[in-house]
Amino acid sequence: MIDQIQQHKQDFESRIGQVSTPEHLKQLRTDFLGKKGCVTETLKAMRGLPPEEKRAVGKHVNQLKAHVESRIKEKTAELAGQSQGQGAGAFDATLPGRQGPPGTLHPITQVMDEIIAVFSSLGFEVAEGPEIESDYYNFEALNMPKDHPARDMQDTFYIEGETVLRTHTSPVQIHVMEKRQPPLRIIAPGKVYRCDSDITHTPMFHQIEGLMIDRHISFSDLKGVMNIFVQQVFGENTPVRFRPSFFPFTCPSAEVDIQCVMCTGKGCRVCSQTGWLEILGAGMVDPAVFAGVNYDPEKWTGFAFGMGIERIAMLKYGIHDIRLFFENDLRFLQQF
Ligand SMILES: [Zn+2]
Repeated sequence: MIDQIQQHKQDFESRIGQVSTPEHLKQLRTDFLGKKGCVTETLKAMRGLPPEEKRAVGKHVNQLKAHVESRIKEKTAELAGQSQGQGAGAFDATLPGRQGPPGTLHPITQVMDEIIAVFSSLGFEVAEGPEIESDYYNFEALNMPKDHPARDMQDTFYIEGETVLRTHTSPVQIHVMEKRQPPLRIIAPGKVYRCDSDITHTPMFHQIEGLMIDRHISFSDLKGVMNIFVQQVFGENTPVRFRPSFFPFTCPSAEVDIQCVMCTGKGCRVCSQTGWLEILGAGMVDPAVFAGVNYDPEKWTGFAFGMGIERIAMLKYGIHDIRLFFENDLRFLQQF
């Protein structure tokens, strides 16, 4: 009987080697494991054997049964793999590769581009300057001599001696005025650095500086340009107001406020209950600055303004923590 079992095993091996379709495999399974299959028949035939022999034969039959089951399982998987290989999931070298999700511009870059576009449409051209500045360009040429109290307004990163990381984009004005003669209409976007860090300040942030110099430029020109800027960026009906202020390199100076975008002027935590939000500083260029670059203050007048891009972006999108711009969390960035 054991010889017979060995013979079944050999038959099985030769037949499974020829199986090429699921139908053949199903038939093979029936022939061996089905109700009238040879494994089942052998198990039945064992009943009449004496106990000693029964144990020995039973061991061989069970081994055969396990072998047949595992080989059929293997073959099933093999056939499934083949049919996939020939069907829809087959590797096709001519298909285009999988595309990653496209990146987008950082919200700060988007807001910066938008502001540049507004001023470009008014005839301003973009100027750039170094981020590492000398004390002269960052302070002195902007009417802030060494003992000037305005230097306390900014906590500066000094690199060594007279070299600093620029604390504002205003030095670009000086570089441009030294090289060129009026009339001028420039904006200078870029990174600036200050020792400051909390939910509304970061050690590096972005500013846009603007400068317009020509004959007969007056404060009303400044107001007109600022109004257009606010309407384009915050919406046509956004109320604007000018408040007197002080900057060393402009006189008179003003801070420009828009009506609070959070509470529309009713008063809230963001606007400290005033209904207004400061968005930029501006003013008429101080004659002392003109003197430093050899422009004739009798002939030329002009205005300058500067704003923080992060602040504009926070107000435009209702973002409360400036640090979100620098954490590179995709859940945040994908909203823009
Ligand atoms: Zn408010």
